[in-house]
Amino acid sequence: MGEHMKSYDLFIDNEWVKSKKGEEQDVINPANEQAIARIQKGGRDDVRAAIDAARTAFDSGPWPRMPPASRAELIMKLARIVEENMLRYGEIELQNTGKAVKQVVDYDIAYTIDNLRFFAGATRLIEGIAAKEYVQDGTSMLRREPVGVVAAITPWNYPLMMVGWRAIPAIAAGNTVVVKPASYTPLTALEMANAVKKAGIPKGVFNVVTGSGAAVGEELARSESVDMVAFTGSNEVGKRISSLASDSVKRLSLELGGKAPFIVFDDADLEAATEGAVVGGLINNGQDCGAATRIYVQEGVFDKFRKLMVEKLSRVRVGDPTNPKTDLGPMISKEQKTKVMDYIEIGKKEADILYEGGTSGLEKGFFLRPALFSTENNKARIVQEEIFGPVPVLLRFKTYDEVIEKANDVLYGLASSVWTRDLRTAMMAARDLRFGTVWVNDHAPIPSEMPWSPMKKSGYGASTSKYSLEEFTTVKHVYVDLTGQARKSWYYQIYGDQPSE
Ligand code: NAD
Repeated sequence: MGEHMKSYDLFIDNEWVKSKKGEEQDVINPANEQAIARIQKGGRDDVRAAIDAARTAFDSGPWPRMPPASRAELIMKLARIVEENMLRYGEIELQNTGKAVKQVVDYDIAYTIDNLRFFAGATRLIEGIAAKEYVQDGTSMLRREPVGVVAAITPWNYPLMMVGWRAIPAIAAGNTVVVKPASYTPLTALEMANAVKKAGIPKGVFNVVTGSGAAVGEELARSESVDMVAFTGSNEVGKRISSLASDSVKRLSLELGGKAPFIVFDDADLEAATEGAVVGGLINNGQDCGAATRIYVQEGVFDKFRKLMVEKLSRVRVGDPTNPKTDLGPMISKEQKTKVMDYIEIGKKEADILYEGGTSGLEKGFFLRPALFSTENNKARIVQEEIFGPVPVLLRFKTYDEVIEKANDVLYGLASSVWTRDLRTAMMAARDLRFGTVWVNDHAPIPSEMPWSPMKKSGYGASTSKYSLEEFTTVKHVYVDLTGQARKSWYYQIYGDQPSE
């Protein structure tokens, strides 16, 4: 254990506690393979304690009963604390994920702060149908209420941001949460717990239990005391959670994998499209569910596009993530690096390799240089399966109909982009692509105000926008009789005679 290595406990009921079994594990910096922190390996009993705390806070605590403005003020305070500590959060996220410093501070942390502010404000504007006499004799009104105890199970690729997407809208809407961060990258979720306490958010509202998916995640999915699971992660685990959660009839929001098409028409600005393809393909080292992985280029510009893209890829700087001039740090783990390298080998058998960066030459760390393939086979594994690494594939197409069919021919439906100067082509593609996001002449922006909302096997629900907040609420109809009569006009339908006119 390093001299300055930080140790984190579980955060339950606004207290830091050790796991009941006393088990711990190290957290590794993927850039140098050194342990950077020690965390608790929570077990079922720890999860139950966290669920109990969240349940009590929901059933009898102040949080769900507060006026939205009061909750908003506390979440704004949380955003301010994260902002004041932005560099520290950035440093921890960098060490834990190996992301390049410019990405982690200027995007991951800054964007999470914006998400927090958005959800704080949006919870004051919960909408619904107006109160009215929808039947003649009474007034109907709508209440939107929190769902209850929410389990937020998050992946390793955007550790703090995923807490911002899954746990913060839940608490903004008045729910209480148990967060289960990914074991590779739990540190900023734990740091957020500190900030929650400092902001004055009441006890039991935000709990964090670290530990394995099999122990902590499955107990959350199974528990009768959890009302909803908000999960972001792989399809495999999403399916497992769905089946476990069905026994207790839980609400689910599932944000799963992606395999985004990136479609370049002959009339596109090729300089812009190749810049976009490199950025979209390599965003977060390709460890991004919306990354541009299937790059369809129309035949008239295919050769030129390929040349430009290879040239730009060769300029990508892989190395020490703390260096401001580094573009890509390491992959998150040895397992992930191996998985991506295996896909590169598969790609070499089923496609042409246009650019192979190879390994980084660095001795330690899970570094990998990007690769670029080209194939005519839309069914190739590297075209259909989520690699989750910097390995985009180029595919040539002739017509609009052909490319829409090929782009849609994939399990996933998360994100897509279209590159053209023609408004009609762009608008038709926006209509025809079966993906929850369609970007035109860019690839990646997700404003807090707009939904990140999957289609097809990428899941269902929304992670950003007011639609995410709505997911964490349930609608209640309240009906008030206005007649004051003992026998309402319709009671004869059940017993007695129809009143005479
Ligand atoms: P993962 O599915 O392996 O793990 C996600 C979380 O689930 C982790 O906290 C993990 O510990 C937990 N878990 C694992 N097994 C579990 C089980 N049996 N029961 C309950 N919980 C369990 O995903 P990952 O490797 O951390 O992340 C990468 C995946 O996430 C990719 O597929 C990517 O596309 C997806 N992702 C999707 C979005 C989106 O918005 N749709 C965003 C980011 C990542």
